[in-house]
Amino acid sequence: MSLLNGVTRTAARALGGLALDASSGIARAGEAARAALTGSTIGPATLRVHVVILSDEDGAPLTTPDALRPSLELANDVFTAEAGIRVRVAGIHLISEPAPPRALDPRANKLLLLDDVLGRTDFYRRHSAPVDLSSMVVGAPVTVIVVRHIAGRVTGCSLGISADWVIVQSSLFDPAQRHTYDETVLAHELGHALNLPHVRMARNLMFPASSPPEQIRGTELQAWQAAILNANRHVVPGVTG
Ligand SMILES: [Zn+2]
Repeated sequence: MSLLNGVTRTAARALGGLALDASSGIARAGEAARAALTGSTIGPATLRVHVVILSDEDGAPLTTPDALRPSLELANDVFTAEAGIRVRVAGIHLISEPAPPRALDPRANKLLLLDDVLGRTDFYRRHSAPVDLSSMVVGAPVTVIVVRHIAGRVTGCSLGISADWVIVQSSLFDPAQRHTYDETVLAHELGHALNLPHVRMARNLMFPASSPPEQIRGTELQAWQAAILNANRHVVPGVTG
């Protein structure tokens, strides 16, 4: 694929995401106003998460569904308590086909974005929940991909609004690895996937740094962060009752 095609595709995804987030946000603001006027309540919103576990060169899975449970439960607890959004696991899929080295040990942040632009992240997209961009529907799941090692000191990475998937390093889910085991990272990356930027409050879920075992970031969210999450195209609004 040519560089220009890749740039166009990544930019189109980001712009499409922005436009849809804005329109679903406006629709929801109207819904909330109506609910306030009529005294009705809005039930919890829902975010669906699809999990993919890669296998190494020998076909050995990088982690197990059970090992992911505490992090998925923490994401559900935090998003429910702080933003009224339930996190539902749509499925946990083990890819037994050995993943290519580039997918097992990806680069982080800007370099990952470059790889996405260059079409080097096709393996992830191939195994992500199918998202039809021509008719992007509200409520498409976010895919969490468990990789072996992310370059540098990062243990999770999201391309923000330009992608429907995030990557997390398998050592985050292994309690035996005390200096990397961290249940907050999966929820933090979901926050990025839903457009949240970093904030400079250590008690906040979107604080950039987390250093297990002693200095793990907090799980709070501010009201404005909850509003951004609820306006996101991946979040299905609650039913008014
Ligand atoms: Zn971050």
